Amino acid sequence: MILIVRLIKLLVILQLFLSCSETTIVESTEPQTPEDLIAHSKEFRKELITVTDGVHVAVGYALANSILIEGEKTNIVIDTTGTEETAREVKALFDAINPNPVESIIYTHNHADHTYGATVFAEGSSPDIYAHSTTEIYLSRVIGILRPIISSRSNRMFGNALPKEQVENNGIGPFLEIGRDGRKPGLLYPTKTFTDQIEFEAAGHKIQLFHAPGETNDQLFVWLPEKKALFPGDNFYKTFPNLYTIRGTPYRDLVGWVNSIDMMRYLEPEYLVPSHTRPIVGKEKIKTLLTTYRDAIQFVHDQTVRLMNLGLDPNEIAEQLVLPKHLGDSPYLKEFYGTPAWSARNVFSGYLGWFDGNPSTLKPLPLKDEAEKMIQLSGDWDSLFKVAEDAFLTDDFQWSLQLTDYLLRSRPDDQKTKLLRQSALEGLGGQESNPNSRYYYLSSAAQLDENYQENDILLPSLEVIQKYPIESMMETLKVNVIPEKSLNKNIQLLFTFTDSPKSFSLFLRRGVLEVQPYMITGSSVQIKSSENDLKAILSGVKSLPISLVNGSLKVEGSRADLLSFFSSLRN
Ligand SMILES: [Zn+2]
Repeated sequence: MILIVRLIKLLVILQLFLSCSETTIVESTEPQTPEDLIAHSKEFRKELITVTDGVHVAVGYALANSILIEGEKTNIVIDTTGTEETAREVKALFDAINPNPVESIIYTHNHADHTYGATVFAEGSSPDIYAHSTTEIYLSRVIGILRPIISSRSNRMFGNALPKEQVENNGIGPFLEIGRDGRKPGLLYPTKTFTDQIEFEAAGHKIQLFHAPGETNDQLFVWLPEKKALFPGDNFYKTFPNLYTIRGTPYRDLVGWVNSIDMMRYLEPEYLVPSHTRPIVGKEKIKTLLTTYRDAIQFVHDQTVRLMNLGLDPNEIAEQLVLPKHLGDSPYLKEFYGTPAWSARNVFSGYLGWFDGNPSTLKPLPLKDEAEKMIQLSGDWDSLFKVAEDAFLTDDFQWSLQLTDYLLRSRPDDQKTKLLRQSALEGLGGQESNPNSRYYYLSSAAQLDENYQENDILLPSLEVIQKYPIESMMETLKVNVIPEKSLNKNIQLLFTFTDSPKSFSLFLRRGVLEVQPYMITGSSVQIKSSENDLKAILSGVKSLPISLVNGSLKVEGSRADLLSFFSSLRN
């Protein structure tokens, strides 16, 4: 009997050995270095490239490219750069080739680096502006409810508050022009939208737009069948894709992204003109590159889900997940923008949300308590500081940085810890070849300087605010209610307008602002103004007291309630 049991055990071991011998170790790519980031800058040498007859792309003038399609009497522009100044520079180049008026502008998606130069291309021709039907919502969300945090995190990710010489390039373009050197936004909202697919004639060409969710949910690609030219927006460019962006983003659906690239592959384009990095010519080359790209995205998705199902948490998956060498070696998948590790966390949270599954993270200790206990564990505050300092001195910058979290939670104003943290961040930034993380570390280090100054890079101009929907402005008010200033308030207001039939009833009710887009009786104060004046006041561009005095805001009823309402909000 014992012999039989031993025999079975031996058989099991043999079987295991055999199955192991069939497994190939996944070989990964050599790690990148900061020198690779410097070499990547040559992608962004300024050039107006003629891709094929009548199709030109301006690369290197702004973070995103702008593309010209010539027609006989009119032209089409795809994406507009991110400011009026960069748009003007590019438009001058386009005009030198063909000064026809612009009949149509196409936004490949809502991001500011593609849309905020539109006013310049539209000068004198009032073009149709094509976009997906959800683009307007996403445009308004970033100008509205999310502006403070997206502006601040974008600033750090793009290194916009760093000295220029510290910004080598931004991975997908030379630099982010938005909010730099006083450049101005020139946004126009879309005028022609669609849901799945649209075909139209413009500038004498048949144009097809396909909804292609990927880098954003509103992404589209443009297909010019007569030239077999495809314009993929940001669903393809020459770096590993930004399947998650560290400035913060809604969930980017990787399966949708793969499907979108498959749609492109099966059209068999002969020209591929992305909205970042340089165009590619040749049917076979494009087919191979698109296949490699979609395989990398699918690999990250499928392997994250496989490891999730085995019970691994996001940290464990991010540590393990690397692209196999045949994908990681592709010059189109170098980690100059996104990374597989960030993407894996995105997939995990997209399917399972924030909880990593570990019971110890369900109700963790308050951060300050955890810090005090860690300090106690190492002896006292000074002994933990010594460990953090030693870690820095041996180039273990990450450990040093993590320990300064504890030290600063215990003593938030300690100058020598701030200095140590700053040095650790600079150490980490210096080692990074991914521009997003590199500038995030370096900007976070710079922020610890007393005289650090940060721009609100997404601060809209008065012109942009005037185009911004009043409905979105009302949404923004809700997320600016300060509970401490409004928990004992119960105020009903009515807003009506001199230049539109709209009206809004607002109920500030003990820390919550309810907004209804119609007239409800019972308001204690009624406010009448033009839509633009109200938008300017609510966004802080115009002052409330001055508007009351000069009569651009007319108030009936309780002025005290009106002031009480405004004093409950940020600004
Ligand atoms: Zn972009």
